[in-house]
Amino acid sequence: MKALIIGGGIGGLVTALEFHRAGIEAHVFESVGDVRPLGVGVNLQPHCVRCLDELGVMDALLDLGVATEEQTFFNNKGQFIRVEPRGLKAGYGWPQISINRGELQIALLDIARERLGAGHIHLGYHLIDFDAPANESVTARFIDRAAGAVLPDARGDLLIGADGIHSRVRETFYPDEGPAKWNGALIYRATTETAPFLGGKSQFMVGGKQTVIGYPMSRSHADRGRSLTNWAARFFIDPARGFPREDWNRRGHIDDFLPLYADWIFDWMNFPELFKGAEAIFEFPMVDRDPLPHWTHGRATLLGDAAHPMYPLGSNGASQAILDAREICRALTRELTIDEALSVYEKDRLPKTAEIVRQNRAGGPERIVTMVETRAPFGFTNIDDVMPRAEIESIMNSYKQISGADIARKGQ
Ligand SMILES: Cc1cc2nc3c(=O)[nH]c(=O)nc-3n(C[C@H](O)[C@H](O)[C@H](O)COP(=O)(O)OP(=O)(O)OC[C@H]3O[C@@H](n4cnc5c(N)ncnc54)[C@H](O)[C@@H]3O)c2cc1C
Repeated sequence: MKALIIGGGIGGLVTALEFHRAGIEAHVFESVGDVRPLGVGVNLQPHCVRCLDELGVMDALLDLGVATEEQTFFNNKGQFIRVEPRGLKAGYGWPQISINRGELQIALLDIARERLGAGHIHLGYHLIDFDAPANESVTARFIDRAAGAVLPDARGDLLIGADGIHSRVRETFYPDEGPAKWNGALIYRATTETAPFLGGKSQFMVGGKQTVIGYPMSRSHADRGRSLTNWAARFFIDPARGFPREDWNRRGHIDDFLPLYADWIFDWMNFPELFKGAEAIFEFPMVDRDPLPHWTHGRATLLGDAAHPMYPLGSNGASQAILDAREICRALTRELTIDEALSVYEKDRLPKTAEIVRQNRAGGPERIVTMVETRAPFGFTNIDDVMPRAEIESIMNSYKQISGADIARKGQ
């Protein structure tokens, strides 16, 4: 069996590693010719770190990132709401890893090259179209965008569109879908070197409707007593103002948001200083897409952001792509035809990820800060009077179940 994987991002590369381990021939076709470490931080949840551990790549990632131990919530006055244990500290069998997205991609790319062989990783191959009828082989056509040249076609037994939020494979299936949906929020993302805060392994969520999330994400900085702090400031603007199409690499300007956070100076973090210390700031609108009725069409299917782009809440985008990779590999190694296996994969993963997309539209687990702000806009004396512990726990636990976190529990 030969699989053509379109996209060498996190989802595509982990799929290739899963296939290689299962003895399925895999070829990755990545649009970018020169993959550089782009992006800021992402979180890998314990249930997907389990998959990465079973693939033998977890230790390499722990050398790069930080094993996050807790998530701390504050209101926009800096008042403490709650701390939640994460990863090993929460009783999972695997850590949560906070890591630079670009470094993660490069690490996976190097491991995939080494294991699959360089001849299986095709950089500079931008998919333009493909044929993937049911029960037949697939053909994919590519161009080299930088050179403007047509490249040789690739043939295989199935095609997986792991080509991200602007997926060409998805667009081929759903040509009328249109642009991603924007909810009116902008996110400014960057990294800043700071002193360690909140014990050095804490992910924070501060605010209400206007928020900042952040976490340390570099092992090498931690080893020398510093924190490379990933942060994302989110606030809403009038949607009528509109916003250009999302682009992971578009630079943003600090003046567009710094005044909104002028008084966010707390004993453990001075947010204006955090923002000013960033080398490069990127802006991204908060977008997702409606869940699809189907991912699989003939011998082609979707995976990761191509299948289920979601708001960056609950720290689940990369993790769900990795769970997709595990599941499609599992289906293809059962006693099924390829067409049946793709249908089994879709039946398992589509409803689960659709529910996460919907939950994230409702604010994800981080909505507890918005709820606290609505109930106590001027702050509180005792958080239990505003939001009882049981209510917070019920929100957190229900999201963990929906996102599949339970499979990382010890002994399961
Ligand atoms: C440059 C970049 C920076 C990012 N930065 C962040 C970040 O800072 N924080 C965050 O939470 N998420 C970020 N993301 C998104 C995050 O990586 C994903 O949400 C998540 O990891 C799921 O991964 P994925 O493999 O499905 O998609 P992606 O990681 O987006 O990977 C998709 C891959 O497909 C390739 N591709 C696209 N079209 C084609 C085509 N026609 N032919 C061949 N290949 C194609 C892309 O170049 C990309 O490498 C970023 C994505 C990219 C591409």
